[in-house]
Amino acid sequence: MTAQPFLPFALPDLGDDEIAEVVDTLKSGWITTGPKAKRFEQAFAEFLGDPQIECIAVNSATAGLHLALEAIGLGPGDEVITTTHTFTATAEVVRYLGADVKLVDIDPATMNIDIAAIEAAITPATRAILPVHYAGLAVDMLAVLDIARRHGLRVVEDAAHALPTTLEKELIGTLGSDATVFSFYANKTMTTGEGGMLVTRNPELAKRARVMRLHGMSRDAFDRFTAKVPSWYYEIVAPGFKYNLTDIAAALGLHQLKRLPAFQQRREQIAERFNDAFADLPLILPPCAPEGDTHAWHLYVVRLADDAAITRDAFIEGMFAAGIGCSVHYVPLHLHPYWRDRYGLTPEQFPQSQKAFERTVSLPLYTAMSDADVERVVQAVRGLLA
Ligand SMILES: *Cc1c(COP(=O)(O)O)cnc(C)c1O
Repeated sequence: MTAQPFLPFALPDLGDDEIAEVVDTLKSGWITTGPKAKRFEQAFAEFLGDPQIECIAVNSATAGLHLALEAIGLGPGDEVITTTHTFTATAEVVRYLGADVKLVDIDPATMNIDIAAIEAAITPATRAILPVHYAGLAVDMLAVLDIARRHGLRVVEDAAHALPTTLEKELIGTLGSDATVFSFYANKTMTTGEGGMLVTRNPELAKRARVMRLHGMSRDAFDRFTAKVPSWYYEIVAPGFKYNLTDIAAALGLHQLKRLPAFQQRREQIAERFNDAFADLPLILPPCAPEGDTHAWHLYVVRLADDAAITRDAFIEGMFAAGIGCSVHYVPLHLHPYWRDRYGLTPEQFPQSQKAFERTVSLPLYTAMSDADVERVVQAVRGLLA
């Protein structure tokens, strides 16, 4: 019997159209931010279905979150409330600006930020709420926006997992927050290798983010060198950043975005197969979106039930022995030395996140998986738990 090849935890799904578009870009003479980045922004706005929304392509979601918080004027002395159960990028951008992070616990049913804990964490220094749509399931944004309205707070959504996710049939990115940021990192629901999109309906915020995206320059290079009257002249209005998305990356994004509906169908299909196949096991399965809404299924996270006769680590080792990569999302921020030590955090302050961390595993779920790959995961999980 020959061993099957290792099934990685995640793989991108790039086709001939993406490859041809990148080659076209390389041959075009314009490889950095230019016509394709602009087209990608327009296509993304069309996807969101709202002409009032401005889309600003950036070279990562981290960059987009940084730009959004900079544009709302966040600075030293300010606090931003977010979940401990996230990737460090969500919180590190707050520190870039000299502001502080107030981490709160999660709702164990959804693993999204605990709405009541947000309200309890508000102080006179609180400026903004930064919810994360964990795994691709929408946060109760109506509740978050209501808290923000009542307390005069800004809202920036970390939607790195949430493309396409809906809440009451509205796409994340089109709700009433100040800005929403998507990620096109290699393992996200669509990818440009590295990349992100900052979307906002606030024209002032968009203007500031566009300027800060490229060195604080009043005109970007593509405008300067391709205008009817080419101009060498520009003005620096702020010490900006280098966060622009290249046309090479945007070339990938144009085709990945077209394929997103098909990607979504495939993700749903795999999630449904897992839900059926694991229903009788000592596992708590991930929550589905409410009827009529979309879960992006960026992650498929199972929780070992209290009566499962295996530890989280042994489960992951067993899957690895079966040739299958798994992961844990996340080592919560309160356990990382930087966050723990800066704010004097202990696991007891985040009982739900801590318990989730100790008992959850993310299984492979991506569009490049074949049906046989999906069945391999099913059989391996059943082999360990049934
Ligand atoms: C991937 C991710 C990010 C960062 O995205 P990049 O595009 O890699 O900067 C931020 N937040 C969460 C929750 C993520 O999963």
